[in-house]
Amino acid sequence: MGENNLKNSAFNATALRKIKTDLLIKKDQIMKDLTDLARKDSHETDNRTTAFPEYGDKPDENAQEISEYSANIVTEKVLEDSLEDIESALKRIEKGTYGICKYCQKPISAKRLQARPTASSCVACKTELQAE
Ligand SMILES: [Zn+2]
Repeated sequence: MGENNLKNSAFNATALRKIKTDLLIKKDQIMKDLTDLARKDSHETDNRTTAFPEYGDKPDENAQEISEYSANIVTEKVLEDSLEDIESALKRIEKGTYGICKYCQKPISAKRLQARPTASSCVACKTELQAE
């Protein structure tokens, strides 16, 4: 399944496999990051993740803890969004529509996909959408 559609895509099977592998690696990394964050949220000590510096015995320690907590929520949101982007990019690879703009159905430039492998729209449509 899907293989028949590959010829409609801007990518050959080998290039798509490479992209898919990269996306899967990225997905694994994000899942791991989310797990690490969840662990932080439950206030378990985990010194393996040193994304945040250790705070001393300062009076404003609580405030720092709160801002660290909301930073985690923001990070979690960003990670979840990236995960969603990756999932849908993987689905598009399966369907043979990867690299095709979802708005105008034209191929997305290879340059754009290199910079943003999860892009689902071409630069022109993206720019138009942002202008609205
Ligand atoms: Zn487009």
